[in-house]
Amino acid sequence: METILFCAPVAADGTLAKASLEALSAAKTLAEGLGATLAVGLFGADVAPAAAAVAACGPVFAVTGEAFAVARYATDAAALEALAKAASATIIIAADDSRVSRALPGVAARLNGRIDAHVVAIAAKDGKPLVTRGYYRQRMTAELTRAARPWCVTVSGGCYAAYDGAPGQASLTDVSVPVTEAMTRTTIKAVVAPSADEQTIRPDAKMLFVAGAGWTKKQGDGAAHVPEAGQLILGFLGKAKASLGSSKSLVDMGGEGESVLPFLTHLHQVGQTGATPRHQKGLATCCHGEEPHVVGWRFITERRAVNLDAACGWAQGKADVLYVADAFEVMRRVNELLG
Ligand SMILES: Cc1cc2nc3c(=O)[nH]c(=O)nc-3n(C[C@H](O)[C@H](O)[C@H](O)COP(=O)(O)OP(=O)(O)OC[C@H]3O[C@@H](n4cnc5c(N)ncnc54)[C@H](O)[C@@H]3O)c2cc1C
Repeated sequence: METILFCAPVAADGTLAKASLEALSAAKTLAEGLGATLAVGLFGADVAPAAAAVAACGPVFAVTGEAFAVARYATDAAALEALAKAASATIIIAADDSRVSRALPGVAARLNGRIDAHVVAIAAKDGKPLVTRGYYRQRMTAELTRAARPWCVTVSGGCYAAYDGAPGQASLTDVSVPVTEAMTRTTIKAVVAPSADEQTIRPDAKMLFVAGAGWTKKQGDGAAHVPEAGQLILGFLGKAKASLGSSKSLVDMGGEGESVLPFLTHLHQVGQTGATPRHQKGLATCCHGEEPHVVGWRFITERRAVNLDAACGWAQGKADVLYVADAFEVMRRVNELLG
């Protein structure tokens, strides 16, 4: 019989990240489908609050200590390896966040196991675990199973509802991991992160707002209006709490010495060589809607675009609604209406 171990780092405040709670739902679904044992593996400075929050899922194995508080390959991999061994796990499931994604492949190698990353669904079929994941930037979807154990699986965010069971008294087993000097050679000096308002990539937002190169191009009056474009875009993002995406042309402009919107980086780029966001709604503005861009919209369910050109790519069946209009005028009015 399979023993499924859900693994997660515990945040400084003792909680589990939303992505981890989603991966826990995936692990629980699989365990129920297979009739398998589910265990929880936690690591961090103090895991007690998180252990209580997930107590109803199964026995909790814990690696605790200051050394495991921060994201660091050596200590994270040692903790994950020890947890997998302590639980005798045959399938190890975790979120595909940056911390676990960095450490778990090494753990799979140490355990002589296998790993599949960025899985979007896990199910039991004919008594076997089956995972679903995309290939070729999600152009193809495959369902696969493996005979090799242990099998590590990381689950993408947004695919499962976050686990929300009642807290309880966890049955906790402490797992000891000796911390050597070599393991703590890497130290975290500081965390530099933009404030929530400056952070314009918001995976949890309901809506994606995409800015295209048109925002920085000469307009009907023969002049470019880049500062106003920036104000309109940031104004809308602030009011609608939307996430910001961009076309490749717009983020590439900085390199060409053209006027740029200073808050855009290559991380905002949506498309074939950019991101594939998963927001419910998307609004493209001043963006032509060429295939290499729109291919990044495949998970956006409701699509609208604002473009001066009635024959732009969005009009070719790529958007549900195309407003043939000046995006400056439209967004000025939308921001007014949002108050
Ligand atoms: C291998 C390869 C990979 C690529 N990968 C990507 C990728 O990952 N992502 C990506 O985005 N692109 C990618 N591209 C580039 C892509 O093909 C397009 O060149 C790019 O998306 C165009 O960006 P754009 O629509 O912002 O700019 P443009 O094509 O310049 O379009 C600007 C649009 O703004 C409109 N406009 C101007 N002013 C206004 C106004 N006031 N109101 C309303 N509309 C206005 C214009 O009508 C025009 O349609 C890739 C290309 C290749 C070859």
